[in-house]
Amino acid sequence: MSAYADRLEALAAEAADRCTGCGKCFEVCPTAREIGLDAAEAKVRVGELAALTVNGGPAADGLQKWLNACDGSARCTDACPEGINVRQWVTIAKMKALNATRPREVGAANAAGRFRHMAQAVRLLASMQLPSETLKKILEPAERRTAEILFYTGCNVLRTPHIVLNVMDILDAMQLDFDVVGGTAHCCGVYQFQEADLPTYERMGHRTFQRFGQSGASKVLTWCPTCTKNFDELEKDVEEPFFDLGHISEFLAANLDALKARFIDQPKRRVVIHEHLGIGATVDSIRRLLSAVPNLELVELVQDSGFSYACGGQAAKFKGREQAIHRALAEGAVAAGADTIVTMYHSCHRALAGAEAVYPLRVVNFTDVIAEALGRGGHPDYYRLYKAGGAMDEAVAAARQFLANNGVRIDEASVQSLTADIFDETGLAGSREAFAQAFTALAKEG
Ligand code: SF4
Ligand code: SF4
Repeated sequence: MSAYADRLEALAAEAADRCTGCGKCFEVCPTAREIGLDAAEAKVRVGELAALTVNGGPAADGLQKWLNACDGSARCTDACPEGINVRQWVTIAKMKALNATRPREVGAANAAGRFRHMAQAVRLLASMQLPSETLKKILEPAERRTAEILFYTGCNVLRTPHIVLNVMDILDAMQLDFDVVGGTAHCCGVYQFQEADLPTYERMGHRTFQRFGQSGASKVLTWCPTCTKNFDELEKDVEEPFFDLGHISEFLAANLDALKARFIDQPKRRVVIHEHLGIGATVDSIRRLLSAVPNLELVELVQDSGFSYACGGQAAKFKGREQAIHRALAEGAVAAGADTIVTMYHSCHRALAGAEAVYPLRVVNFTDVIAEALGRGGHPDYYRLYKAGGAMDEAVAAARQFLANNGVRIDEASVQSLTADIFDETGLAGSREAFAQAFTALAKEG
């Protein structure tokens, strides 16, 4: 076993040691309830979790169901009176249980397949929406960077790259010394960890984290909630880094006075934030930031914000619940007289961007709002055009130019695969045919 794997074992063992077996973590778990596990059996389930941690796998049947259902909401951690990071404990236990029931090669093949699929979609979507000089800048190796601050994008936000451009605008407006780094060569290794392929995880996610340190940056600002959670719980807690690590929204909220001083007049808006709990103080930070934007009124809506820490990802297995969350949000926003939904993360933005085709609402990311309040931003959100399913002329014209600029060709099979990627995700959307037809025509241009 590697030193890293030993340390993970030690973190789980420490949790088991501190646990009093009260069962509060299981009682509040939303996904355990979603699959019908009885809250009255909380003490039994937690006992099984401790037994797996101390004695090894496989997991008892009820525990295995709980582990499989977990989507990382962190309601358990918030409920634990002992201050145990139960989400982290469950994540490590899940990997351990998987390792006990199947050869590592099976998990490695699954992880490689998932990574390949994601990398292909990210590469195409980024190449359809970003100038090559910006893309090259993002993909350049982390260890070669020299700035004080590293803005780490992760992989998947490059499907909606206007968000990255917004953040770059904001940091630039703050006159900070920063580099932006991301893409699949700097993956956080989430698939490998989830599939219990620890050796490959160490060469990917663990290595990415070490590369941040090698850059000499004093601060790493994360974007992706999954990268933030993984690096926080599977790296920072394993070995304290030399740099500060935190989500960009928390950093911006901590510098609110500096931002406010630069805000310019904005149009009147009534805004609902699509909220997720579970990733540090991100939701509170975004609320504070938006509250400071001139002429922006926050409309409070009761939301199912504790079900998952973000849309999609591990929560994607609960399609019905996610659909209900999206519809209730959009309908609640309309009923409350809001004109705009503001998304927190990129996966939520992908899920909700198409709401404009169905409801009288605008959907923007919080970075759109902040960048524009600083007199910057305004980057076209092509993904929203794809998802809304209206006229594709603008999106196709941009893609034609960016693809040529990036030296990337798109074929009909890629368009089919992208159409499935974009429209099979749970969320609100217009016509998928509009995207498929327009981009198939682009692919046929050769
Ligand atoms: S992280 Fe959320 S889904 Fe996972 S065990 Fe904890 S409460 Fe349940
Ligand atoms: S809430 Fe905390 S102390 Fe109670 S069973 Fe869960 S992990 Fe143990």
